[in-house]
Amino acid sequence: IWALNNPMRLAGWLINDIQRFIASAEKVEELLVTEPQIKSIIDEREVQTSTTILEFDHVDFSYEDGPVLCDITFEAHAGQTIGIIGPTGAGKSTLVNLLGRFYEVDDGEIRVDGINIKDWNIHQLREKMAMVMQDIFLFSDTIEGNIAYGNPDAPMEAVYAAAKQAEASRFIESLPDGYDTVVGERGVGLSGGQKQRIALARALLRDPSLLILDDTTSSVDMETEFKIQETLRSILKDKTCFIIAHRISSVKDADLILVMHEGCIIERGKHADLMERKGYYWHVYNNQLGNFERTPLGEEVI
Ligand code: ADP
Repeated sequence: IWALNNPMRLAGWLINDIQRFIASAEKVEELLVTEPQIKSIIDEREVQTSTTILEFDHVDFSYEDGPVLCDITFEAHAGQTIGIIGPTGAGKSTLVNLLGRFYEVDDGEIRVDGINIKDWNIHQLREKMAMVMQDIFLFSDTIEGNIAYGNPDAPMEAVYAAAKQAEASRFIESLPDGYDTVVGERGVGLSGGQKQRIALARALLRDPSLLILDDTTSSVDMETEFKIQETLRSILKDKTCFIIAHRISSVKDADLILVMHEGCIIERGKHADLMERKGYYWHVYNNQLGNFERTPLGEEVI
């Protein structure tokens, strides 16, 4: 509720993520209230770089009820795509949420462009990032307004282009009022996949240097997912990107795939390396092809 009353303060990263924040509003409020005390030694830092280098260096993290991430270490070079897979509760969303400093790490360090995120100006840090979450929040506004949220001055051509890249333009144009169709609580209901594509268009319009897609294509059919991936491939060339996915098809082409289980990275590498290893990833891949029903660690197919 607090978040809805102050949407502009949640600019950038938060715009795609309001529902999750309502769920943890208390914690977020606490963080923003303490914001002035957050040390920032680089207020005037230039943030023009189009790509982001990102490092997790022995990061441990716990919520109040216990440890969630344990000794997470990896590096994303500028322009790389990092895929993260693993069962529900493995810590995938928590890992990417740490990037925006919504929580502080217990131990270790996260560096963006070589600088500890604690030393970044928090607004500039979040401005570099756009995140598309699983639970999409649409405002009671037109589709155009929803895509341009956070970028009210964006020209219509840019809104159309972002919608096209997100494979959303065709269904938007088929609606009676097109981009002027009102959606959200008081408007036309959209399917999960359509909402995801609008949220993706919103993120792409911001042209972030770090794009985080948290199970973004889980609600779209395979064919649309394939098309989104095709277009994403060219967009992602000059961006650093995290793709959290259930379907291996979404992370197969990533430069680095992290396989997470109970807060740890249990396997890492490219698709071919992980297949060769014949471990957890290989099992999940075969599961998804319908070859097995359970992973070697006992869970049902993810
Ligand atoms: P994944 O994205 O892999 O499904 P999450 O990062 O969402 O995993 O969750 C990892 C663990 O942290 C789970 O046990 C989950 O219940 C817990 N968790 C997630 N968010 C919170 C929160 N805001 N407060 C407390 N525990 C949380």
